[in-house]
Amino acid sequence: MVKLYRSRFPDIDIPKTGLIPYLFENPYGIPESKPLFIDVHTKETRTFGQIKDNVLRLAAGLQDMYGFGQGDVLALFAPNSVDFVLPALGAIAAGGVTSPSNPRYSVTELVHQLQVSNAKILIAHPDNIQVALEAAQLFGMPKRNLLVLGNASIHDVLPFTVLLQARRAIVAPLTAEEAKSRPCYLCFSSGTTGKAKGVMTSHTNAIAGTALFMTLEDHNEPNVNQRHGLNFLPMFHMYALLIVLHLSLRRGTPVDLMAQFDMNVFLNTVQQRRITHAWLVPPVILALAKYPQLKTFDLTSLTHVFSAAAPLSKEVSEAFAVQFPTVFLSQGYGMTETSPIATIELLNDTAHGSCGVLVPNMVARLVKEDGSDAQLNEPGELWLKGPNIMLGYMKNEQATVETIDADQFLHTGDVAVVDDKERFYIVDRIKELIKYKGFQVAPAELEGILLKSPLVSDCAVIGVYDPVQATELPHAYVVLKSPIDAQHMNDTAKALMAFVANQVASFKQIRHVRFVDTIPKTASGKILRRVLRDQVKQELHAS
Ligand code: AMP
Repeated sequence: MVKLYRSRFPDIDIPKTGLIPYLFENPYGIPESKPLFIDVHTKETRTFGQIKDNVLRLAAGLQDMYGFGQGDVLALFAPNSVDFVLPALGAIAAGGVTSPSNPRYSVTELVHQLQVSNAKILIAHPDNIQVALEAAQLFGMPKRNLLVLGNASIHDVLPFTVLLQARRAIVAPLTAEEAKSRPCYLCFSSGTTGKAKGVMTSHTNAIAGTALFMTLEDHNEPNVNQRHGLNFLPMFHMYALLIVLHLSLRRGTPVDLMAQFDMNVFLNTVQQRRITHAWLVPPVILALAKYPQLKTFDLTSLTHVFSAAAPLSKEVSEAFAVQFPTVFLSQGYGMTETSPIATIELLNDTAHGSCGVLVPNMVARLVKEDGSDAQLNEPGELWLKGPNIMLGYMKNEQATVETIDADQFLHTGDVAVVDDKERFYIVDRIKELIKYKGFQVAPAELEGILLKSPLVSDCAVIGVYDPVQATELPHAYVVLKSPIDAQHMNDTAKALMAFVANQVASFKQIRHVRFVDTIPKTASGKILRRVLRDQVKQELHAS
């Protein structure tokens, strides 16, 4: 019998409009002069009024100078900054799509994203301009279509400020049907298998993700108007894009921005700026819980932290609770494909290890391998349906139909159990994905690179959880073309790790190599990752 889980909260109406009117309509009366984004290092600020004005002026520049409009894609290759939001939303205001990418990408990785998205414009941070130039050239993008953040040109690349026209673009209104069917973001995710794919997030998906999250945040944080956030999560990822950036604009929450996590800067900022709220990932939660100098900071302003993007173990959340007894640590679960939220832990209804309850408008099923629905406390693959489920993968019909079924349920590739209060727990992952500190690592990509080494005849890459860092690490199983003796194994393993490291962003590096005689496979040649994962579990158990 099919068992459907529904949110314990009533469904909400998702506004039938485009993303830009939704973000700037200002139902909470945010003063135009209110600073919303503040750079923790330079102290530069951008007010609500400045952001709105410049998004529309930049949209006008894209339209006037490049004929940029409906269906066109702007790729954004930059770390967090107070100006990230301008091209991110400017492209959407001009009628197009924004495709943000990880600023740590190598040339090859960026070219892949430019090709899949068929980007018309690329905007890069000055630190990333060299990689952007090479990638744009390989992709065949005219140099004029590459712009650099800031107001100075670098290597003859135009500064993005040339886009800021005197006129403001008039954002074309979308019908309900257009809002539902037109993408506004194209973030990248490997999904359940293979390499990174472009996730088409519609205007309605993006609005739904923001609105559903906000409904439960309001439940969790009655004093939401006093909130002051601190964010280091990368804005190229849906987590920060929809939950931090959108919420700030819609709700008027000021957010101090860091380009990357640094313990001292983080703690000093919480202390000096009286930060109330931070968005974190499990390895940072563990690092905070273990930080020896924690007691030397006044962190009493902090009331609420949110954890998502990777599993937060019971041990890590307990360790955090010991050091921060007055802070509400809420775990959420979701994925890029769910724009990005599906469940959130509620205040006064927490359970260590749980990622909470379904957000409104979401329906879930837990389905076992035999296709039947799991019972209470029984694991099953989590299937999700709702207004925040992506349109599909760009130019990849096959991956889309393999992920979203005929009943519109998205098969997450994550295994969950539900307790008697309908709180969800993610207990396993059956898809290929590895999460390194919240960043996606696709095993298929690393295997493809390893197979190009003249030493390797076969290989498999899996994620192995490291409790010391509270993250999974990519481990490679390698069959060598010719056997080597024991004394050369270490050097060969190092050489293979370096071979991969030279071709990928640093977070994708292989952290351990193990030499084996064969890779377990199905009759059709598919790697049996489960066998390797079970083997690791048994070894851990035995040690
Ligand atoms: P991304 O699309 O990069 O957000 O990655 C989504 C994937 O991260 C999910 O499918 C899960 O495998 C994992 N993930 C996200 N949040 C959690 C969580 N709270 N617990 C366990 N896994 C999570």
